[in-house]
Amino acid sequence: MSSLHQNLINGSWVAGAGVNLNKNPSDLADVVGEFAQADAGHAQTAIEAASAAFPKWANSSVQERADILDRAGSAILARKEELGKLLAREEGKTLPEAIGEAARAGYIFKFFAGEAVRIEGEKLASVRPGVEVEITREPIGVVGIITPWNFPIAIPAWKIAPALAYGNCVVVKPADLVPGCAWALASILHDAGIPPGVFNLVMGRGSVVGEAIVGSPDVAGISFTGSVSTGRAIAARAIEQGKKIQLEMGGKNPMVVLDDADMNIAVGACVNGAFFSTGQRCTASSRLIVTQGIHDRFVAALRERMGALKVDHALKQGTEIGPVVDQTQLDQDLAYLDIGRNEGAKVTGGDILGRETEGYYLQPALFTDTHNAMRINREEIFGPVASVIRVKDYGEALAVANDTPFGLSSGICTTSLKHASHFKRHAQAGMVMVNLPTAGVDYHVPFGGRKGSSYGSREQGRYAAEFYTTVKTAYTLP
Ligand code: NAD
Repeated sequence: MSSLHQNLINGSWVAGAGVNLNKNPSDLADVVGEFAQADAGHAQTAIEAASAAFPKWANSSVQERADILDRAGSAILARKEELGKLLAREEGKTLPEAIGEAARAGYIFKFFAGEAVRIEGEKLASVRPGVEVEITREPIGVVGIITPWNFPIAIPAWKIAPALAYGNCVVVKPADLVPGCAWALASILHDAGIPPGVFNLVMGRGSVVGEAIVGSPDVAGISFTGSVSTGRAIAARAIEQGKKIQLEMGGKNPMVVLDDADMNIAVGACVNGAFFSTGQRCTASSRLIVTQGIHDRFVAALRERMGALKVDHALKQGTEIGPVVDQTQLDQDLAYLDIGRNEGAKVTGGDILGRETEGYYLQPALFTDTHNAMRINREEIFGPVASVIRVKDYGEALAVANDTPFGLSSGICTTSLKHASHFKRHAQAGMVMVNLPTAGVDYHVPFGGRKGSSYGSREQGRYAAEFYTTVKTAYTLP
């Protein structure tokens, strides 16, 4: 990528009010590209275009929508290596992880291409003789989509694809740090024949472009993924205006390891869940809750595996952990390492690393001797940092797992069917994993959490219809 990448508004590529330089966190000398920065006026034009396009798109044939989404999905899959490379360059996850994420985006578009032709309703007999009742789903209108930096292609895909499949028009604002993947998606949708105004991309600051989208009376719903503080502020404003709202926010996901766990499975799940994608996943396993009989052996095995992790340039073959996304996030990770030390936890790792290229390299860090009331166990760090909490038995492990303001994902490593079944039922989280990392989910089933992690209906799979449609009940006396 070299020349200026523009916003897509009403089917045309439009320059912005400024330019954002997209930098590679693995190599600060590598500029991924120049991206136009929209302002509030651009956001307003995009919303007007989406509103104007809505009546026709809402009543378009489901085959037309399915064909466009299917073409976009095929194009993403055909270009997954190139898109993966772009993603790894702008966000810093390793190339295999990034290609996997790009492929996932392709499958999401294909899944919702199918869903477009499968939109269901219901027909019931009325309680009044001779009257028929039909329940149908209709699109909600213009949807504002606001996304974070940590899944630069999958999260935009899992919001855009269902929005379009169910007949909505969209205005997308990606995170400032990763406009490249969102721009690539926009260009793929444009090439796939999305009609002007149905899909709009406005790249720019959250406080400018995001605010304009959230504040517009012409936007019927906001689907947001990002931090708790931004999500709550957006929700307050959106609800005041009666908008539909869906928020996916932070996590402090527990992974319970019981005495009877398979050590290889437990260590593998914890290393993957806590440190892969540089720990920058809302579903990361950040609290490892370990029963006392296995605690010391588990910690020793985990430290050994951590010591062998290769932290380097995201595009280098063999790299297992890429850099932290930017200086701000690195500062946050380092601040929490200090907070943990000051709270009395012991830390292994957590050093800044020098590599061939200048980047934000941080050695994965493990806190031990922690308890659940410490800030490092209550607040989301969002880096390659995990804590071990020693507990007596399964009962205490479950109580500690649930003692958190969050509730996104939750895991247990055990060979006991009894404990696994009990945990699946009693974990207070939207997703539960048995002998699997807390991160890493399928694209065709619901995604989301409870408590402070999520608000509104679930994303992905058929459950996406709850947010992107509104239900109509029609009565007929034939
Ligand atoms: P963030 O909240 O800083 O930003 C998210 C998006 O909101 C960005 O596009 C940003 O520009 C925009 N924004 C910021 N201020 C705004 C405003 N006033 N009005 C409208 N939009 C505004 O989050 P981030 O740092 O990009 O992402 C990291 C966070 O995302 C972490 O907390 C992580 O847990 C969370 N996350 C959650 C999930 C999930 O599904 N639960 C998935 C991925 C990431």
